[in-house]
Amino acid sequence: MSVLEIRDLHVTVGEGDDAKEILRGVDLTVRSGETHAIMGPNGSGKSTLAYSIAGHPKYTITGGTVTLDGEDVLAMTVDERARAGLFLAMQYPVEVPGVSVSNFLRTAATAIQGEAPKLRTWVKDVKTEMSALEMDPAFAERNVNEGFSGGEKKRHEILQMRLLKPKIAILDETDSGLDVDALRVVSEGVNRSREDSDVGTLLITHYTRILRYIKPDFVHVFVAGQIVDEGGPELAEKLEEQGYAAYVADSKETA
Ligand code: ADP
Ligand code: MG
Ligand code: MG
Repeated sequence: MSVLEIRDLHVTVGEGDDAKEILRGVDLTVRSGETHAIMGPNGSGKSTLAYSIAGHPKYTITGGTVTLDGEDVLAMTVDERARAGLFLAMQYPVEVPGVSVSNFLRTAATAIQGEAPKLRTWVKDVKTEMSALEMDPAFAERNVNEGFSGGEKKRHEILQMRLLKPKIAILDETDSGLDVDALRVVSEGVNRSREDSDVGTLLITHYTRILRYIKPDFVHVFVAGQIVDEGGPELAEKLEEQGYAAYVADSKETA
C-alpha cells in the first residue's frame, strides 16, 4: 500500500520579475489502487502539477510538500523519484537518438529495479504487453520517439508504465490526439495496471472522453492553480454537460 501526498503545493515559473505563481496551494492524496482524475480548462496549471512532481527544473517549488510513503519527493533527483515508484512519462527525453525502444525499456527497468530483469522473462513480458497494446513487434527496434506519431507516443508511454510497474503513475493528457481505437487500447493498459499491480493513478485531462474507458474513483476540478471542487465519477458527467464555465467565473470573482 503506497500513498502520494501533496500538501499546499505552491509553484512558480519564470524568474525575478517574470516569476508567476501557477500552483496556488494544491492538496491531494493518491493511494494504491485509486484512480483520480484531475480535470480543468487549458492553462489552469495541470501540466505544471505533473512537471513539478516529476522534478522538472523549470518549475520552482515555493511552498508545500510532496511525499511518497512519507519520503520527501521534492528532495529526490528525477532518477530517485522513478526508483521510489513514481511514474511520470514526461520525465524522459523527447527523443533518444540511436537508442531502441527495447534497449531503452530494459535500461529503465534496470535503473529502477536495481538489477537487470532476467532476459527470458523480460523478452516475454515486452512481447505480451506490446501485443496487448496492439503494437507492431517491429516497434521495439525503432529509436525512442524518433518519428513517433501521437498514438505511438502514448502507447509507448503506457508500455513503459506496464513494464516498470510503478506504485503511483501520473498521466498527463494521455488522451490528447488519440483516435477512438487508440484511446481504448491505452485505457485498457491503465486499467490492467490498476488490476494486476494495484497502481495508484493521477489522470490529468482536459476532456471527459477518456473517463468513459477509465473509471475514476475521484474527480477533482482544477482551475487557476487550485482544486476548486471534488467528487466521484458523477462530477465528470456534470462537467461533460456543463463544462468549466461556472468554475472559471467563480475563480475570477474571488481572484
Ligand atoms: P494546463 O496543463 O492546465 O493547460 P499548464 O500547466 O501547461 O496548464 O500552464 C499553466 C500556466 O503556466 C499557463 O499560463 C502557462 O503559460 C504557464 N506556464 C507553464 N509552463 C511554463 C513555462 N515553462 N514557462 C512559462 N510559463 C509557463
Ligand atoms: Mg496556500
Ligand atoms: Mg497541460
